[in-house]
Amino acid sequence: MRDLDELFAELDRSEFRRSKRLNAKDAAYLRDKGISVIKQHASDFVKKRLAPALPDNDGRQTPWRGHPVFVAQHATATCCRSCLAKWHRIEKGEALTDAEIDYVIRVICRWLENTSS
Ligand SMILES: [Zn+2]
Repeated sequence: MRDLDELFAELDRSEFRRSKRLNAKDAAYLRDKGISVIKQHASDFVKKRLAPALPDNDGRQTPWRGHPVFVAQHATATCCRSCLAKWHRIEKGEALTDAEIDYVIRVICRWLENTSS
């Protein structure tokens, strides 16, 4: 896990990560639901798709669109276990701890808050 200011500065230097933006539909969904509901969705997605030691379809478990959290995951490199290892120093092959799950959700929500302000 990393310091979030440092992490976001580094993400900002990645052209690929920086290119991820919410489309109008996802932005409207975020606005309508509000961040606390979206945070709950993020928690569900992270626990189901990312937290297991060996997630199903790892590397392809996060769609490119269809929910603001998915876009945020690609923008913040919390999309799969390889990106978590590379960017966030969370090793593969073991289930995420509660602290790691909280961290990933914080990263996703910070990006969503930045993007909607
Ligand atoms: Zn990834």
